[in-house]
Amino acid sequence: MTQGEKGFTVWFTGLSGSGKSTIAEMLYHELKARHLKTEILDGDEVRKNLSKGLGFSKEDRDTNILRIAFVADLLTRNGVATICCPISPYKETRDAARAQIGEFVEVHVDASVAEIAEHRDPKGLYKKALAGEITGFTGVDDPYEAPENPELRIDTESEDPEASLGHVLDTLKSHGYIDDATPMIEGDRVHSGLTDLRVTDTGHVAKEA
Ligand code: ADP
Repeated sequence: MTQGEKGFTVWFTGLSGSGKSTIAEMLYHELKARHLKTEILDGDEVRKNLSKGLGFSKEDRDTNILRIAFVADLLTRNGVATICCPISPYKETRDAARAQIGEFVEVHVDASVAEIAEHRDPKGLYKKALAGEITGFTGVDDPYEAPENPELRIDTESEDPEASLGHVLDTLKSHGYIDDATPMIEGDRVHSGLTDLRVTDTGHVAKEA
């Protein structure tokens, strides 16, 4: 198979703040640099439009995921390199997305609640959830079912984003979706506009503390 002939979906799953959008943005630019048609279906962004009005009950979370899978399937079968990054806490629903899409690379973006709450909680959501001030928060008082056999698990607690991106590119190469896993983009990245990461005045992805 030649790069760009076949669409595929990279499905990032993990806790809020684990690094899904960060890696998705980086991957987006790497795929663009390889002249692939690329789209991102970001969890928070989808909830502002396609899934507007849905909440965080199991039923609503599943509906959200099945909608994302539906769109990802359409894109994938039209040759698009599709990047999805919803929390997607339930194994069964992720497996349904896998079955529907077929060309599916599941990446578990793994960091512990303790790490995220301590170092990456700009909106203070984990602190509130751990204090019981908000409920139904994934990883605190709502389930997160980690994938048992993902194509890849990245440990964002111990490695930096560049290293995680490198593992994703290696995995895509080993599945024949890209020809060259060598990172092509260095330095600040222009914001895709497709994730909820903060954007600077110059239109770049802002670096978080
Ligand atoms: P999510 O989309 O999963 O909610 P974000 O990408 O918005 O998470 O935020 C993840 C945070 O973790 C960012 O501040 C990012 O810089 C930091 N981080 C540290 N190491 C990594 C890594 N290896 N991969 C991705 N993000 C990382």
